[in-house]
Amino acid sequence: MFYIDFHVDTLMRWLVDKSKGEVSNIDLWKNDYHIDIERLIKSNYAAQFFACFICLGEEPIYKISHYDDALRAIDIFHEQVSKNPEKIAFASSYQDYLANKNNNRLSAFLTIEEGGIIDGKIERLEELYNKGVRAITLTWNYENCIGYPNSGYKFKDYGLKPFGIEVVEKMNDLGIIVDVSHLSDAGFNDVYKYSKKPFMATHSNSREVHEHCRNLTDEMVKKLADKGGITGINFCGVFLQKENKSKIDDMMTHIRHLINVGGLEVVGLGTDFDGIDGELEIKGAGDIHMLVEAMEKNKFTSKEIEAVCYKNSEAFFKRYWSVS
Ligand SMILES: [Zn+2]
Repeated sequence: MFYIDFHVDTLMRWLVDKSKGEVSNIDLWKNDYHIDIERLIKSNYAAQFFACFICLGEEPIYKISHYDDALRAIDIFHEQVSKNPEKIAFASSYQDYLANKNNNRLSAFLTIEEGGIIDGKIERLEELYNKGVRAITLTWNYENCIGYPNSGYKFKDYGLKPFGIEVVEKMNDLGIIVDVSHLSDAGFNDVYKYSKKPFMATHSNSREVHEHCRNLTDEMVKKLADKGGITGINFCGVFLQKENKSKIDDMMTHIRHLINVGGLEVVGLGTDFDGIDGELEIKGAGDIHMLVEAMEKNKFTSKEIEAVCYKNSEAFFKRYWSVS
């Protein structure tokens, strides 16, 4: 089975650990985090999205700016990915993805989690695009220049700011995927209204199955599907059910419900590995086969299993990068 995962925080987990002196040297190839490239390859992943997660509520790691932190993380991403071009290669489009897959290479996509790093400067989107960024999570858990988060329901009814609408339009023009995970409900509806291209919720589950502000309502799932979008199943315990325990049975319930509401094409994977804690049944990229085994046991068809693990994501890339 192939796998495509829309969201992991491995890069920033390492940067933060390094800044605290807890690790000396990053090795994205082999480490004891949830994700390393060796395990991704062993588990037959076709693509991994690597997020540069930036926390606006904390001082920049390198003390200059949050944007500067992101640029450094981007450099590390490219440096690590280019270490073994026979096995992994950067991907910036559906075409790159297909070429990599045909050459038995894992595709590495680059994303930013916290659109606020552009700090009101629209030209930074083009800079980020030129550095290879192909998806941006518009907000994390703070208000920013683009809009408002769904942390709690405090900003639920606050939509995109005028600059945020401009950002969505510019991202559409450049070919950077809009990611609505973490965004306020009203912000989601604005993206639905203003985005001319399909968009993603890279790591969000179903709010109908489990009431959490980070999850999507049925109405949102339908709108996402209507735009040709996709959501990635998040393995974080508190988004799956009420305790911080990430259980495979709960993943099954979310996947089944999302398919029932939005259709088979709307579900992919967005594990949030290296950004989640608590008890995990699937402990990292090396265990991802357990998801398939559970889906088989839960009577998902082989077509459904392939769709969720990678085919829906492939189809999304094709739709996204062929819409002009
Ligand atoms: Zn997140």
